[in-house]
Amino acid sequence: MADVKYVFVTGGVTSSLGKGIISASLAKLLQARGYSVTIQKLDPYINVDPGTLNPYEHGECYVTLDGAETDLDLGHYERFLNVPTSQANNVTTGRIYQSVINKERKGDYLGKTVQVIPHITDEIKRRIKLVTSGNKFDIVITEIGGTVGDIESLPYIESVRQLKWELGTQNCLVVHLTLVPYLSSTGESKTKPTQHSVKELLETGIQPDVLVLRTERPLNQDIKRKVALFCNVEESAVIESVDVSTIYEVPIKMVEQGLDKTVLRKLALPFDAEPDLAEWREFLTKLKNPKHSIKVGLVGKYVELPDAYKSIAESFIHSGAMNECAIEVVYIHSEDIFENNVEKKLGGLNGILVAPGFGSRGIEGKILTAKYARENNIPFLGICLGMQCAVIEFARNVLKLDGAHSTEINHKTKYPVIDLMEEQKSIIDKGGTMRLGGYKCVIAKNSKAYEAYGKTEIIERHRHRYEFNDKYFEEFKKNGMAPVGINPDSNLVEIMEITDHKWFVGVQFHPEYSSTVISPHPLFVNFIKACIG
Ligand code: GLN
Repeated sequence: MADVKYVFVTGGVTSSLGKGIISASLAKLLQARGYSVTIQKLDPYINVDPGTLNPYEHGECYVTLDGAETDLDLGHYERFLNVPTSQANNVTTGRIYQSVINKERKGDYLGKTVQVIPHITDEIKRRIKLVTSGNKFDIVITEIGGTVGDIESLPYIESVRQLKWELGTQNCLVVHLTLVPYLSSTGESKTKPTQHSVKELLETGIQPDVLVLRTERPLNQDIKRKVALFCNVEESAVIESVDVSTIYEVPIKMVEQGLDKTVLRKLALPFDAEPDLAEWREFLTKLKNPKHSIKVGLVGKYVELPDAYKSIAESFIHSGAMNECAIEVVYIHSEDIFENNVEKKLGGLNGILVAPGFGSRGIEGKILTAKYARENNIPFLGICLGMQCAVIEFARNVLKLDGAHSTEINHKTKYPVIDLMEEQKSIIDKGGTMRLGGYKCVIAKNSKAYEAYGKTEIIERHRHRYEFNDKYFEEFKKNGMAPVGINPDSNLVEIMEITDHKWFVGVQFHPEYSSTVISPHPLFVNFIKACIG
């Protein structure tokens, strides 16, 4: 078996340049050439995982099938590659230090002084290799979070330097992503920030092999040649990444400039056949040539930061393309929805999605939204807290259980239709203690969910502590809101549907985490179908 090859993606000049998209695009191209590839994200913050972070900090918390709470970039990796990621694909400084300190307490360091070099860097290198243990992959792409020059990312950069030295240049390659700003006053694209950022990398002992230049406007060959010369990189290894209308266009832009070939050549891997991107191109064609157009409301409390709902937004793109439908997603703040303006806020939408979330802020707006969708026969998809709000609404207004609530919001409610799961009652720690990851669900045949999935057994990803209260099972069912998806092992209710409605589905799990370009999530696909009408 050939050696595993490692590609590192670093970023310079500013954050938010799209390292995740470049990593995912490169991985896609290598995969399309028949290589098995995985992508890993190393995050320099000290939280053990992003599960405890407010979405306003770093956007959505993405959940893997094996129950890891991870950075949202892992969502991009899965959406591009259509291959599940796992706990090993996201490592934070907190996790690194936690392992090193645990080892120290066990006495594993045999009396040595424990230091950043070699102990922290060794642990980083171990984690980088762990993702492909058993040589599962031909190529591992590791994205280093943060920007070169940050204090926090130094141990990661040092680990990359050491790995390059240990494994040799043919097995280890660095792609550095920078910004080439355009100055409108002089009408020029400027390369100096890139030169400085490469210098910064050189100071840490790393010569980048490939440069990807983010730019608003196409760059001419002179600029690329200049960057190549001053940064000591081959001219063919200077790639531009110009702004495009959809992130899914980026692999096409990269293949046009031969990024995949340059990487494979430098890694001494064969690149004879052209990459097979037929399905990918078909998706793009559908995405760009819609036959229908609809407006869908996304009701949540983090709408100021669309990254908080990244996977939902992407799921709309996948399912929209599949339905040949352009979807305008209208982000609506649940705190702004009241009895007296609900019509104004939600009227005219073809469908409504109520988002996941935690805590009481904006909850009544979400409950009102579910009521509006139910009464006006508007296609509705409630995800996690969104489903719980639909249940609360139904309890209050149809079952007439006045003041019904979730005990997350009102622990004294007379009608706790949503309640803390039994296994959660003794848990105090917040980090990594929710019901997380993939769980089985069995679907009733006469349901909208069954129509969508076309099968009775599914596995979906979870991230919650509260659940539908079984005590009310029969009452809901009898009155038209049916529990149509049940976990066969724990009996927890996973899907609720209003029977006498165009399309009203609430799910306790998160379908948005498993929608990809090549296989859009069936619930989103059918939700959009219902919205088109
Ligand atoms: N706050 C709710 C719970 O913990 C819903 C969580 C979510 O929407 N992800 O059950």
